[in-house]
Amino acid sequence: MKVFNTLTGKKEEFVPIEEGKVRMYVCGPTVYNLIHIGNARPMIIFDTARRYMEYKGYEVNYVSNFTDVDDKIIKAAKEEGVDASVISERYIEECKKDMAAMNVRPATTHPKATEEIDGMIDMIKTLIDLDYAYVAEDGTVYYRTRKFKDYGKLSHKNLDDLRAGNRSLLVTGEDQKEDPLDFVLWKPKKEGEPYWESPWCEGRPGWHIECSVMSKKYLGEMIDIHAGGEDLVFPHHENEIAQSEACNGKEFARYWLHNAFLNIDNKKMSKSLGNFFTVRDISEKYDLQVLRFFMLSAHYRMPLNFSAELMQAAKNSLERIENAQANLKHLINNAPEKTISEEEQALSNKSTDFECEFETAMDDDFNTADAITAVFNLVKFINTNTSSDNSRSYLTGLSERLIKLCDILGLKVDKAEELLDADIEALIEERTQARKAKNFARADEIRNELLEKGIVLEDTREGVKWHRT
Ligand code: AMP
Ligand code: ZN
Repeated sequence: MKVFNTLTGKKEEFVPIEEGKVRMYVCGPTVYNLIHIGNARPMIIFDTARRYMEYKGYEVNYVSNFTDVDDKIIKAAKEEGVDASVISERYIEECKKDMAAMNVRPATTHPKATEEIDGMIDMIKTLIDLDYAYVAEDGTVYYRTRKFKDYGKLSHKNLDDLRAGNRSLLVTGEDQKEDPLDFVLWKPKKEGEPYWESPWCEGRPGWHIECSVMSKKYLGEMIDIHAGGEDLVFPHHENEIAQSEACNGKEFARYWLHNAFLNIDNKKMSKSLGNFFTVRDISEKYDLQVLRFFMLSAHYRMPLNFSAELMQAAKNSLERIENAQANLKHLINNAPEKTISEEEQALSNKSTDFECEFETAMDDDFNTADAITAVFNLVKFINTNTSSDNSRSYLTGLSERLIKLCDILGLKVDKAEELLDADIEALIEERTQARKAKNFARADEIRNELLEKGIVLEDTREGVKWHRT
């Protein structure tokens, strides 16, 4: 399997640190509002990468954070007159619902910045001890960027060019910096803002430190893959490298993967430009499987322009796959009782070609666009090589192959696979019992299992309510 590594600017053979295991960290959203479909691109892409690596037999430890302390969250909280945590908790829950509806599996761990402050303080202390950070008069702690010799290695920027081209790096209130390139690790509180005690001042962390800390805590000092949208390459990921490598004295992440933007009218979709659709907006018009298909129809490193026409095309394409599966199901249910014929066996063997084609595409830096072509080749093959005369085992083999490939892409094409209401009720009851017995691990496991199948639970005063996404 090859992946394109931003660090080296090359496609490289993927070799994990520990055989058979992948440690992967994906920078998650800042939770101050409903996520937009630009935020959904890395979620869908890297969830698909995870699914594919699991299919290949890797055990993937997948960590993705929620940034739950930030200026935008504080601003939203002030506007509503509530605590910042009310805003962040609300949008974490909403984000999880959107993820489930897009069939994005919950991460192995979803750490929240506000729950990792102690770890951040520890890492900052170490950076100060090692002279990579310093405390300014007002208690702000800055990272001494120039001291980190490899600074710029990810974004391929040169420190002097950066400084010359970026006078604006020195913003108001930051005149205590030794160098305009230095960035904040810890900053003093402002009136009405959430804050934590620290050795330097009551305040809160800068944004970059959280990912260095959470990645280390949940995955270890060295990880295999660090990923996110391409806007994170500089400064966020560059700063993460500077923090982690200075602190741990080791390479931080081996492979850096970045998705290109989801655009609208060829401009980046973003909250600040106001040119966005939330995932929720899209869910009112389409099944979010369609959104997922649309995202996967382009390679993740290619910019993707959102349009109603492309969404319609995605919907039609997905329906072609679903129809092939529905036809197969019908044939299977009515298939004559007979053993698989030699001719069927030969065709069945031939259909493995499409699986190989699929794997070749995915092995080439997760080329989902070509992987989808392979799925369509299989669909075409199914449509031309099946009839009511075929044996059940031949038909079932084809159906399983189709479902398996779609499942790697996170596309549910077998409608009959959905859980029945009675199964859901039984799991909810088991979860209630587990909670009563204080077996919260099992309770969480059930919640996640249901989420994966598109069932969202809500704990209300009247008991547990559920709905399908
Ligand atoms: P944010 O909440 O802005 O920190 O973004 C969360 C994730 O979404 C990051 O990995 C961003 O790079 C990514 N992202 C934000 N906007 C877009 C976009 N228009 N296209 C692709 N990825 C995006
Ligand atoms: Zn991050």
